[in-house]
Amino acid sequence: MPSNSKKSAVIVGAGIAGLASARLLSENGVDVTVIEKSSGIGGHVANWGCMATSECQVCHCCSLSDIIAALDESPVRFMTGWQLESINTGVGGQLSGVIVVENESRNIREIPADALILSIGFETFDPSSKGLWGYGVLDGVITLAEFDDFIREDRLSELVPDQDAPRIAFFQCVGSRDKSIGANYCSQYCCKAGLRSAIRIKTDKPDWDVSLFYIDLQVAGKYATTLLDNAKDLGIHLVQGVPGEVFPYQGNKLGVVSEKNGLNVRDQFDRIILSVGQRPNPTAADLSRITGVGLDNFGFFRNLEGLDRFRTSEKGIYVAGACSGPMDIETTLTSAEAATADILEDLSNWREGS
Ligand code: SF4
Ligand code: SF4
Repeated sequence: MPSNSKKSAVIVGAGIAGLASARLLSENGVDVTVIEKSSGIGGHVANWGCMATSECQVCHCCSLSDIIAALDESPVRFMTGWQLESINTGVGGQLSGVIVVENESRNIREIPADALILSIGFETFDPSSKGLWGYGVLDGVITLAEFDDFIREDRLSELVPDQDAPRIAFFQCVGSRDKSIGANYCSQYCCKAGLRSAIRIKTDKPDWDVSLFYIDLQVAGKYATTLLDNAKDLGIHLVQGVPGEVFPYQGNKLGVVSEKNGLNVRDQFDRIILSVGQRPNPTAADLSRITGVGLDNFGFFRNLEGLDRFRTSEKGIYVAGACSGPMDIETTLTSAEAATADILEDLSNWREGS
């Protein structure tokens, strides 16, 4: 490897992890190409709403627009509508380049690469697959992602039309901590996201009745206490227990049975918002076959352990963001910084050793 050549990196996935990595690598003099299978950039976060009340709720969603603005001024190349087809390796199995293919035309292109970051993110759990909560059958049951649309489009009042003081319930751990669907892990982000959403509703609509059903609340971090205090101060009902089946009740209401102190408690709501968990991106299986990076028991990329956890078993291939396990935006941004630091360290070592 010539020591005076500019180093290059290819990033697969243009969600917030891939974009943050692209920005940092480019700022450190690396030639960066971002490959994105879909036609747009930003991933899930591009569709999430700002949950600020009179104060910021520190969800980090707006980091995305800052990163995109910085990338607009950078030499980073974007190839949307392209996918990774194969990788090229050189001496000692070290990555030397990638082959990418355009979805529609099937055009092929070869890109030199000293480093490859896999940052394909996650997919959200589809609650209709379990058939327990009435999602896709009962009109009033929506996911947290669908609730975000009401906030992003500034139409919270339309969440429950023609209903004074509606009753709203959040169900936590939908598609997470659930062995029956192979997801016996915590998705890390949904307690905070559910609480922020409940706080946003109750702040904008103080006369609405808001409950949040949980197993236990995973809200570690600097702002955890603030979130919980705000929720309690606003009168949000925090109910420990996971409701079972949802059923139609008195016309267009939703009946729920939950367990409290060993007793079944019946209740009714106007809207139920399911805090759906993170699942591995199904594309991970193809990319595992192409790159040699293994998958863990859940289907997330298998990274190395300890201080090396953004490196993989394959030389020159790294992971960033929720494709290696569920995480919130703050942790995703930290993982992008760490993966970038690992790449810069490795590139520097190769320069010195070349
Ligand atoms: S961090 Fe979240 S809540 Fe705060 S301003 Fe940004 S998007 Fe809004
Ligand atoms: S973050 Fe909360 S809602 Fe999400 S899986 Fe973990 S415990 Fe359940």
